[in-house]
Amino acid sequence: MDNDTCIFCRIISGEVSSDTVYADDLFVAFLDIHPTTKGHTLLVPRAHIGSFAELSNEVASTLGGRLRTLAPIIANAVSATGFNLILNNSADAGQVVPHVHWHIIPRYRTDGLRAWPSTAISPDELHEVAGLIIRRLKDI
Ligand code: AMP
Ligand code: ZN
Repeated sequence: MDNDTCIFCRIISGEVSSDTVYADDLFVAFLDIHPTTKGHTLLVPRAHIGSFAELSNEVASTLGGRLRTLAPIIANAVSATGFNLILNNSADAGQVVPHVHWHIIPRYRTDGLRAWPSTAISPDELHEVAGLIIRRLKDI
C-alpha cells in the first residue's frame, strides 16, 4: 500500500476529513472514527511506515515524549480516570490500517472493558520462554 491509498496518509494530507486534535512536524493525532471509549485517539507518524520495527530513529525517539504529554491531557479532557496505550503490530495482532499508529484509549471506572486475558503456565515453561528472549536480547 502506498500513500495514495492509505487512509491515514489521506487524512494527514487533508484529502479525507478527520477530527484532528494535535499536529506537529512528525505526528498527527485524530479521533478514532469507531471509538472504543469516548476520546479514543490515534497518534500517527506523518511518514507512511507500516510497522513498529521500521520506524526511523527520529520518530522512535520522539514517540515516548509525545505519548507521555498527549495521553494524560486527552484523558483529562474527557473526564476519564485512566487510559490504555496500544499498538497493534501486524494483522495477527489486530492491525487493520497498515500505517503504524498508537491507540490512546481513555478508560472509565464503569466502561465495562475487560483486562487482557491471562493464561496458566508452569515455572519451567516460563523459564524456557525467558531463555528464548534472553538469547536474542544478548546481541542488541
Ligand atoms: P488497527 O486495528 O490498530 O489498525 O486500528 C485502526 C483504527 O483506525 C480502527 O480503530 C478504526 O476505527 C480506525 N479508523 C479507520 N478509518 C478511520 C478514519 N477514516 N478516521 C478515523 N479512524 C479510522
Ligand atoms: Zn499511510
